[in-house]
Amino acid sequence: MPKGQLFVISAPSGAGKTSLVTAALARVPELQVSVSHTTRAPRPGEQDGREYHFVSHATFEELIRDEALFEYAEVFGHLYGTAKETVLSQLRSGNNVILEIDWQGAAQVRALWPDVVSVFILPPTREALRERLISRKQDDEQTIESRMAEADETLAKAPDFDFWVINDDFEVALLELQTILQGDRTPSGGMTEKDTVFLQKLLGQS
Ligand code: 5GP
Repeated sequence: MPKGQLFVISAPSGAGKTSLVTAALARVPELQVSVSHTTRAPRPGEQDGREYHFVSHATFEELIRDEALFEYAEVFGHLYGTAKETVLSQLRSGNNVILEIDWQGAAQVRALWPDVVSVFILPPTREALRERLISRKQDDEQTIESRMAEADETLAKAPDFDFWVINDDFEVALLELQTILQGDRTPSGGMTEKDTVFLQKLLGQS
């Protein structure tokens, strides 16, 4: 029987998920982040085996055929997936494991692993999301617009998660995430009305 706790963390692109997870890792013991496989090309500064295992389309399809993936999805035109054996052996050896994956992968994991604790990172405002996408200088204007449209699709899935962290003040958000990852937060009973109103505002519905 697995002993570690599995976490899934999702967010729209630009919400600051990776920075929060990296900072949380430095504070929470016995916690690992799973390194995914992807068919996208490495960005400047990214290293094979550190940010991702960068693989060809053919290799990824082989992983699918061999049922070697815990979950996988197509995101922004590329394939991303979590290696099954790696995650299961990390859990078996008592480590808590974070999957930093998109909402489609999160849904697959929830169906496979009911014990998973899922966390959704929210930007404070739509403008903050857009500004973060612009300031990280990874995307041209057209890509930023399509990322904003994708963000709406992702944000609409937020109610399916167990916990929500608003990344407005980084330190406050980090403390909240840390509390969740340490298992110190009482199980959530779904979104409160305040959370729902906040999400609707982000989605521009009110
Ligand atoms: P990026 O290419 O910007 O690193 O990631 C793009 C999106 O792919 C992010 O939403 C990220 O969470 C998601 N992603 C990364 N790895 C995986 C994975 O293994 N499975 C799934 N389903 N999504 C992933």
